[in-house]
Amino acid sequence: MDHRDDKSLRSDQGGKPSRTIKLHKQPGSGGLRETLKKELNRAQWEAVTVLDGFNLILAGPGSGKTRVITYRVAWLIDRGVPPESILLVTFTRRAAREMVSRLESLVGPRAGQVWAGTFHHIGNRILRRSADLLGYSPSFSIMDSEDQVDLLKLAMDDAGLTGTGKMAPKPALVTKILSTAFNTGVSIEQAVQGRFPGIVEWLPQLQTAACTYAARKKAANCMDYDDLLGLWSRLVREFPEQQERLARQFRHILVDELQDTNKIQIELVETLAKSGHGNLTAVGDDAQSIYQFRGANYDNILKFPERNPGSKMFLLDVNYRSTPEIVSFTNAVLAHNSTGFEKVLVSARSSGPRPLVVPTEDGHEEAELICQLILEGCEQGIGLKSQAVLYRNHHDSILIQDELVRRKIPYQMRSGLKFFEQSHVKDVLAFLRIQANPRDESAWRRLLLMLPGIGPAKAAAVFDAIKDAPDPLATVGTAQALLQVPTKSRGLFGAFVGDLRKIQAADPLRNPAAAIQAILQGGYPAVVRAQYEHPENRIADLEQLVLLAGRSEALEPFLADQMLAGDLKGVDTLAGDEPTETLVLSTIHQAKGLEWSRVYVPRLVEDSFPHARSMNEPGGVDEERRIFYVAVTRAMNELFLTYPLLLGRGPRGPNMIATPSRFLQEIPPEFLESAQVEPEYGDPEPWAPAGLPAPE
Ligand code: ATP
Ligand code: MG
Repeated sequence: MDHRDDKSLRSDQGGKPSRTIKLHKQPGSGGLRETLKKELNRAQWEAVTVLDGFNLILAGPGSGKTRVITYRVAWLIDRGVPPESILLVTFTRRAAREMVSRLESLVGPRAGQVWAGTFHHIGNRILRRSADLLGYSPSFSIMDSEDQVDLLKLAMDDAGLTGTGKMAPKPALVTKILSTAFNTGVSIEQAVQGRFPGIVEWLPQLQTAACTYAARKKAANCMDYDDLLGLWSRLVREFPEQQERLARQFRHILVDELQDTNKIQIELVETLAKSGHGNLTAVGDDAQSIYQFRGANYDNILKFPERNPGSKMFLLDVNYRSTPEIVSFTNAVLAHNSTGFEKVLVSARSSGPRPLVVPTEDGHEEAELICQLILEGCEQGIGLKSQAVLYRNHHDSILIQDELVRRKIPYQMRSGLKFFEQSHVKDVLAFLRIQANPRDESAWRRLLLMLPGIGPAKAAAVFDAIKDAPDPLATVGTAQALLQVPTKSRGLFGAFVGDLRKIQAADPLRNPAAAIQAILQGGYPAVVRAQYEHPENRIADLEQLVLLAGRSEALEPFLADQMLAGDLKGVDTLAGDEPTETLVLSTIHQAKGLEWSRVYVPRLVEDSFPHARSMNEPGGVDEERRIFYVAVTRAMNELFLTYPLLLGRGPRGPNMIATPSRFLQEIPPEFLESAQVEPEYGDPEPWAPAGLPAPE
């Protein structure tokens, strides 16, 4: 064997080469170590390469927490940890995708084998293989919040909560109560007494409704979002062999944004780590905890060392994201919150402008100002995708959207109705859901209620006639089902059954795209044209859905993906692809973990931000201040804070004078720059009576 070194070996082959080709080596063979050393500071490097055990990285925004956790996964894979034994829990699906794509560039395609996603996604994956232990079949459907309300209505009928002649709680409120109780880990009674004392008298019926709702879900083989977490947690708590299996499977568990986990989530990851390999790395920032309304508790992060004795703690103190001016401003915001872990952050960036505060006459002028600033940014070379408008409430964006449309500025929304929450998309998904799970009551109801002449009672009768049959899809075409349908609707019902057959013939379980095409060739487009506004746009949307489905080889993962896209924690654009040059409009909650060169935060007035509701809740204003903190810490270079002086213009009532948000007023003036707007009108059009040429 020849032992000459690499260089001499290369130059010996065929004389002096005439050109050099730079070969980009895939990391993994020593290359990764070099990359990490280059891209991490010392504290980050230590956190990335810490050996096994429980580790907490507690640090402020922009300090590289997400970078650390991503690189740690790469480092583990590089050291030979099988990627499929790594569980990486992120806050949104977008975050998971971004982290996996960064990982791919570090360790290649092995990155795709990491179990990465939100708690709900991971729960779904785990339950698909073990749902039968809990009385579900693995083909269970996932219900979104609208399905949930729909099914709960039926359960409330059963429990005597409707038609009482008294003001009983509405289904949307009951869903909220059940979810609050679940996510905060308390009983329904405690949730009602603590948060909804006005409806204590309905407690017995609420409890019955909760039981009936659970039974109906099980009978329909449906899970709501909370079930994906709750049933996963039951699997771990009640089935020791399942706990052992999962604990053995996940050698390393990593969690981003730990401050926004709730009791169940933290218990799950800690139990699995403790009973298994003992490796849990969590990162977060208590000052960015903004999901208390969903049961998040920042004690999960602050008490991590107490719950896990012997854990190592890492502090990162350099902010790589924002200019010193923005960092000083954001520190001043936080100075007004009493609790939390004190951190000092120093910016690694060079100096930039101070955050600019601008009052405007009203909301219209505020929208005009923001659009003008956005366009000016573009002229200075800051592309649309490097700018974002982040607002507290979805409706704060309406006037801005209107102005963006007028000025033809392309934007993407990360709040409000998302693609998968729109009725026509949900209709089509309902067609597919009954193919995957023929006992899915919500999906059947949705479809049956589309047929003229069939109301809730008839829909329930048809469903009752088929639900216990061995093959409900076949039974729906029998006389037994048809008898439940009023005579005048039977023709249409027959056509609907015919469509179901055609969809079935397209092999939906293996070819969801063909199944959607079959739906579009049947009677459904006529329903869209008859019942919805802008039908052609909707049909065009559904054609996009065919393309999207074309990427999936099976119906079940396609459906799970779509149903989870409506999950608050995993909003996505249609194909998951971001258009390249568009402005982002987002609620602050959806902007967590992200960053833009320029950030605009509008409508900084009392009652909007802080939100009116928060003022009566204990700790409510502090939570709002953390939301504000999350917003302003997204900015890398420039931050614009605006507010209208008057609220509500127009014929419907007098203007109200707005009070600027306390979050602006409490900041010492040296951290800000303020500006005022001076309207400038272009030269007036020369007057010319119609039909005559304008005067010279
Ligand atoms: P947040 O709390 O907002 O989630 P974070 O702590 O997770 O923030 P990252 O998003 O990981 O911070 O990093 C913020 C920015 O700083 C990113 O653009 C990242 O690429 C960059 N960054 C992080 N560490 C370094 C470093 N050592 N050198 C250069 N840039 C870095
Ligand atoms: Mg982060």
